[in-house]
Amino acid sequence: MTDKREALVGFLKKRKALLAGVLLLAALSALLARAGGRSDRYIVEAEYDETAQELRVREVFKYTNRTGQALEALCFNLWPNAYAEEKSAPVANSERQQAYPDGFSAGSARVEEVRAAGKETGYRLEGAQRTLLKVQLPFTLRPMGSVEVELRYTVALPRTCLRMGVSDTDVRLSGVFATLCAFEDGEFRTDAYAPLGDPFVSECANWQVTLTAPQSYVAAGTGLAETDQGVWRFAGEHLRDFALFLSKDYCVAQQKAGDVTVRSFAFTQEGAEQALDTAVQALTVYEGLYGAYPYDDYSVCAGQFCIGGMEYPGVVLIDDALYRSGDGMLEFVIAHETAHQWWYAGVGSDQIRAPWQDEALAEYSTLLYYEAVYGAESFDSLYQSMVRPATENMALAGVGVGQSLDKFESAATYDALVYRKGAAMLHDLRVALGNDTFLEAMRRYYRDNLFTLARPEDFFTALGEQGAQRAAQWLSGERP
Ligand SMILES: [Zn+2]
Repeated sequence: MTDKREALVGFLKKRKALLAGVLLLAALSALLARAGGRSDRYIVEAEYDETAQELRVREVFKYTNRTGQALEALCFNLWPNAYAEEKSAPVANSERQQAYPDGFSAGSARVEEVRAAGKETGYRLEGAQRTLLKVQLPFTLRPMGSVEVELRYTVALPRTCLRMGVSDTDVRLSGVFATLCAFEDGEFRTDAYAPLGDPFVSECANWQVTLTAPQSYVAAGTGLAETDQGVWRFAGEHLRDFALFLSKDYCVAQQKAGDVTVRSFAFTQEGAEQALDTAVQALTVYEGLYGAYPYDDYSVCAGQFCIGGMEYPGVVLIDDALYRSGDGMLEFVIAHETAHQWWYAGVGSDQIRAPWQDEALAEYSTLLYYEAVYGAESFDSLYQSMVRPATENMALAGVGVGQSLDKFESAATYDALVYRKGAAMLHDLRVALGNDTFLEAMRRYYRDNLFTLARPEDFFTALGEQGAQRAAQWLSGERP
């Protein structure tokens, strides 16, 4: 080290002017590199109008172009528009009746103003559901260049039991905010809001959200920083999505799990406590298996959500019916959704082309939760009743776990193949590699791909050659 410094001093004396230029360039590129390392930021101010059942949003998006190519426009997913028409609403036919118990109710996003770099700019709504908001930039955005986009829109919330909607007890604000489409192979992705699975692919960003709502509400979301008379402030880093859940009837229970603040919001105090216990236990189990939970807080929120459970970074939505069913499904679903904090929120993946990559891992993690909490017998009983039938199902014989979402016609087949047969694949890997090697691979996969969108190859890399070969056979249908 000393040597190099002396050489630099000698060089300085001779070539002062030249070096000044070189140093300036180095400082500039270091600055640029730092800017490149920083995540994009969403700064959202949202106001809930209870009477109109609308959410008024002002959203500022601070973006740095890391695509490696010049951009003329940015493309956002504006999911509320998927709820506009009955025929294209994001719900499977088999669940339509439950999703709209009072009949169909439309939701949408009305775009009022779009500005880029401080100037009003043109935009278009594209896609069959008009869920793609294409914002024209006032200049060509070169690689590593930055731009600020400001969107003003009003979201009309449907009366429904789906991810976004209102009911007599709660307001579900998930998929309400515009989020940048993932960029791939030289363009922004243009995925539709499909009725099956979780058809979302997005990069991590930092979110700062201020919500205003009548004071009688309790609001839940990731990174709760401050609550003040009808105003809630949230801030979180490395979030690939941001969801809020509101209710006037929420009972709250809270506990620390290590450094993580775990909160539970439910319609009875008993329900809140029960869900909290499971959430804390699941968090502790998965931290032991895979590595540290990726955020400072975790919230489990009850809601009228007819599908069961849904994961978001740092927060999950659980159907209120499960709190009352008394059949043990509440614990199962919370354990499953909590596992998604590792496999979805932490390590993202392509939930459209490779839904197994988060769902099979979350499902098998749920079995590992039961094994850790209740012992090997509990694992075995779940395996025999839920997982094995999928491997013996003749209709699924030869069908690989690695199917993309558009290959499925029913939620039941999707569940049997991706979740159950997917869990069988992971169990087979665990048996073949040995417990320690398997868990080491899972920890490596988590650590090496945290806050990225991992590809199937990244999972194979973590597994090592023998595991990768076996996994590939399950994904293609050569196994079992
Ligand atoms: Zn899941």
